[in-house]
Amino acid sequence: ETARRFHELIARQAAERGEAPGLIDSDGQLLNHADYHAAIEEMAGRLRERGVAGGDRVLIVAENCAATALAIFAASTLDAIAVPVNARMTGPELDRITAHAAPRAILYTCHVSPEARAHAEAAGAAQIDTATGGIAIAAGPGGAPEPVEEGAGQVAVILYTTGTTGDPKGVMLTHANLLFAGALSAEMRGMVAEDRIYGALPLTHVFGLASMLMAGAHCGATVQLETRFAPDRLLAALRDGATVLPAVPQMHALLMKHTAALGLDRLERGRLRYVSSGAAPLDPAWKRKAEAFYGLPLQNGYGMTESTAGICGTKSAIGDPDISVGPALPGIEIRIDPEAQDAEGVGEIHTRGPHVMKGYYRNPEATAQVLDAEGWLRTGDLGKIDAQGRLHVVGRCKELIIRSGFNVYPPEVEAALNDHPMVVQAAVVGRARGGNEEVLAFVQCAEPAPEPAALKAHVSERLSSYKRPSKILIVDRLPAAATGKILKHKLLGTFADRLAALDAEE
Ligand code: ATP
Ligand code: MG
Repeated sequence: ETARRFHELIARQAAERGEAPGLIDSDGQLLNHADYHAAIEEMAGRLRERGVAGGDRVLIVAENCAATALAIFAASTLDAIAVPVNARMTGPELDRITAHAAPRAILYTCHVSPEARAHAEAAGAAQIDTATGGIAIAAGPGGAPEPVEEGAGQVAVILYTTGTTGDPKGVMLTHANLLFAGALSAEMRGMVAEDRIYGALPLTHVFGLASMLMAGAHCGATVQLETRFAPDRLLAALRDGATVLPAVPQMHALLMKHTAALGLDRLERGRLRYVSSGAAPLDPAWKRKAEAFYGLPLQNGYGMTESTAGICGTKSAIGDPDISVGPALPGIEIRIDPEAQDAEGVGEIHTRGPHVMKGYYRNPEATAQVLDAEGWLRTGDLGKIDAQGRLHVVGRCKELIIRSGFNVYPPEVEAALNDHPMVVQAAVVGRARGGNEEVLAFVQCAEPAPEPAALKAHVSERLSSYKRPSKILIVDRLPAAATGKILKHKLLGTFADRLAALDAEE
């Protein structure tokens, strides 16, 4: 029998394997599937007492802890819509989302974040005890409930995107979207009930929600939640039997740095059998290094909030030099915009299938810009599809730099800079100047930082002249979102004074 709402997955696991581990809280508390199911029911009761009913939004100011997972499933049992947002958001950011989503109730989990604590206090939140510890709950503005649909097309979750390129938008994901994505993610990894997923990706982000929470619920695997990624905690989790590690490149890099500092160049990986990387491009040399470290292939995945995570994914063997994001996942279509491709076949990536969002919440104009009548989603990313059907993501449409008629893809320039041993992270953007666009690089370096001239020489060996940055700024820190993604739209503003000084020297 197919599930209509995603909480039914946990109900089913509780019936089939009630004694088997289901969820491990960030403080180590273990819930078996029967406990997990009961705790969801308890949380649903708490929300119902506060007037939450079908079509209401529940804002979850969320850390990665059991209460967050329970609240997401509890909303499902009430036909309500869960809106999990990062607890480290500032007060004004939380206020903006509260105003937009108009939730019936606001729930604050773990309380580690000072921002969330201050917000809870200001909202007059009441402390309550739950099966997994204390949480706080406040009344929200309580806008009109959305109509509830009978089938799996009901909106289940609204996720506000990280906003690397501008204002956050509320992506409406349905039960059907999330059930599909969870099943797909579990199947891609060949997951079984005995697996244990190391869960450090934020549950407020689609990768964490789909590839940890939903994938675990789909097959009855254990999800071990981690409030904040820390390499020593991951090493402990591996000793403890974690088998699946969904991550982003920064996490792998931190782990490798940490173990190197401990004097180890390889990992004692225990039962670990599957490692993935998503959300950002992979560098070939770095991928080789990571695979040698894990002794496992590093699977790359491409997706976005609007596509409930997975669009493409690799199933490659260790040492495969391919850094594509793989072919479209089963049941999913991809194409390159048939109307606008350059000579090499590069154009905007489109995708269609059961993973595509319902739309942006309360924003039909933005929805119409990305979803067409035939169901194609415009991803806003540029890519090409090779003869083997594998997708290569080359950059974002908005970030494409056109210099003297040539296309410059920032990720390629960033990869050349990142290849320098002293570069920690590089970000490349275009800037309109005198009827042309110039290529600017902002680079965070380790000490002793190289001179910009040395970096210029370094990229000159790797890139043709039109791709080389005309200015390289060494900076202490790059503006980043809570997820670690660089906020490129903030670069020109953040470093306006230094740019002006460089312009004056010209
Ligand atoms: P916003 O849409 O608000 O600007 P965002 O696009 O950063 O924010 P997400 O939905 O979290 O928010 O990120 C999805 C984007 O991340 C994709 O559109 C793509 O640009 C990038 N991305 C994801 N996976 C990969 C990957 N494997 N390789 C390269 N880029 C990737
Ligand atoms: Mg996006």
